[in-house]
This record gives sequence, C-alpha cells and structure tokens, in this order.
Amino acid sequence: MKNLLLLLSIFVFIACGNTSEKETTPAFTSEAKPQDDIPNFGIVIHGGAGTILKENMSDSLEKAYKTKLEEAIRTGHEILANGGTAIQAVQRTINVMEDSPLFNSAKGAVFANDETNQLDASIMDGKTLNAGAVAGVTNIKNPINLAYEVMENSEHVLLAGKGAEEFATQRGLEIVDPSYFYTENRFKSLQKVKEREREKSGNKTAANYDSFIKDSKFGTVGCAALDKNGNLAAGTSTGGMTNKRWNRIGDSPIIGAGTYANNATCAVSSTGWGEFFIRGVVAYDISALMEYKGLSLQEAAAEVIQKKIPKMGGDGGIIAIDHEGNVAMEFNTAGMYRATMNKKAELQIGIYEK
Ligand code: ASP
Repeated sequence: MKNLLLLLSIFVFIACGNTSEKETTPAFTSEAKPQDDIPNFGIVIHGGAGTILKENMSDSLEKAYKTKLEEAIRTGHEILANGGTAIQAVQRTINVMEDSPLFNSAKGAVFANDETNQLDASIMDGKTLNAGAVAGVTNIKNPINLAYEVMENSEHVLLAGKGAEEFATQRGLEIVDPSYFYTENRFKSLQKVKEREREKSGNKTAANYDSFIKDSKFGTVGCAALDKNGNLAAGTSTGGMTNKRWNRIGDSPIIGAGTYANNATCAVSSTGWGEFFIRGVVAYDISALMEYKGLSLQEAAAEVIQKKIPKMGGDGGIIAIDHEGNVAMEFNTAGMYRATMNKKAELQIGIYEK
C-alpha cells in the first residue's frame, strides 16, 4: 500500500511538472503555424484588355468570363501550392484559357484577313532567362506548349510558320485541323472589320476605322507566376489582331515586348495594340525600370502603361508579379479581364475599370 502511494505521488509530481512546462512553452501547433513560414508564391493572369464595358456585357457572359478566369487561375495556383514550378503553372493556366472560345487565343483566336487563324505565343523562365516563342502557327492546339518546347528542346528562341509546325510534329505536340479554331463570333467580327474597311476606302475617316479595329481585337491571354522556390515565369498566347495581313506578328511572341521574366525583378505578360508594345519594349521596360532605377513593380508598370504607351498613341495593359510576390494589373483601356491569387489563396477577379 505504501509503495502504491509512493508510486502515485511520483506520478502526480511528474504530471504537474509536465503541465507547468507546457504552459511556459510557446504554443506551436500545425494550425498555429504562421503563414509566413510558407515561402511566398502567387499568380496573376489576363484575358485581354480593350473597350470592355459593363453596358455591353450580358450577365451570363460576364459570369462565363469570371468562371473561366477563376478556373484558369485555380489551376496554376494549385500547381504552385503543391510545390510545382512557375513555368508549369504558367503553361497549364494558359492552356485553360487557350481551350476556351471566350479568349483571343487558340480556340477563340481571331481571324486574319485570309480567314485563317494564325497563332502566336511565348514563354520565359526568370531563373535561367531562357525563352521560347512561336509565331503564325495554324494547327497547334496549344501554342504555349510549343513555345515551351522551343525553349526547352531547341537551341532557338523564336520559330515561325511551317517550320514551327514541323518542329511541333517532331516533338509530338497535339496537332489539330485548322477548322478547330473556327468560332462564329470571331468570323463575324472579321466580316464586320472588312465591311468597315470597304467603307473607309469610300469616305469614312481613318480614325473611326482604327478605333473599330482596336476594339475588335482584345482577348489575348497571359500569366505570370512566382513559385515557392522564388522562381518567376511569364507566358502569353494570342490570335493577334482581327484582319491582320502579310503574316503580321504582334508583340505576344516577342520576348521583351509581350513577355518577360527575370528572377531579379519581375515576370510580365502584355496585351494591347502590339505594334506599340513592340516599339515600347513594354515587358522588358518594366523590368528595366525596376532593375536600373529601383522603381517598385507598381511604379514601373504605371510609368510604362499610363505614360509611355499612351504618349506613343497605343493602348493596352499588363499583368505582372515581382520576386516578392507583389502583383500589378495595369491597363489604360476601359477594361482588362484579369485575376490574381496569393499564397493565402485570396482570389481577386476584375473585368472593368479598377
Ligand atoms: N497584343 C496582341 C497583338 O497585337 C493583341 C492583344 O493583346 O489584344 O497581337
């Protein structure tokens, strides 16, 4: 009995000792683990900038855009949350938008003057500064995947037309009949633009024609991401501009104009009037303002999109993310389809003015 009592008191003493130790030790359960312990990551996308006005949008179309933007960004966010690379996230996110007829890229691409769909895309890895791009391809289901192949499995940066398509076949990419890219809406837009063009050759003013062309082209898609390893990537995919001729190529497949990524600064994807974005070297200019002038991402994006490009006469926007996970969604048009998600899975979706 005595022994039993002794054992009992030892047990009580140890139990009390442990309790008091627990109280003085700071609580550190998995739920209490601060978010800051998870390396920062984030993702941002656009589905084109232009004259996107609430009064011209039906509720059901607006809902369709928001649903697709959310599906796309969640695809990339999940990859990043599970430790995937920024490059993977950018590619898969863009694939979702490429496969949707809502956006001017792949399945929803606009028509060129000769009634074909000519697709451009590019991707860049901010860690290696490696990049890949394709221009004027007509039968590649997901042009961003071909841009990735150019980056990873060729010694080149930009391939065009038939040669790019041959390379896609060699790399085993999904090839489709060009009729896959037909959508009634885009075909009708081409007919309207051609009609305006005929009117213009009558006595209509060039300014009216230009603004009509501008308004009928938006929809390019793009994505920029920061992964948990601190690597940045960006990509862009487009059908270009309605009624384009002579194998016109815009900014989207031009590294430095439509797409740029550098781990030292930021990752950017552009959308807008490509001729101005090429001459303004928009994506690289934002990175350069950060690198050489010490501007923040937001300051650099505003400088280029709100000052430099409008001064030249162009319009459009960009989405970008920097090496700390700060995001910019800057545009000088009435709207830009856009969405972003941070490491806490906080989602923001926008279409019209900020
Ligand atoms: N930037 C694209 C191009 O000029 C079009 C767009 O983004 O709307 O080809």
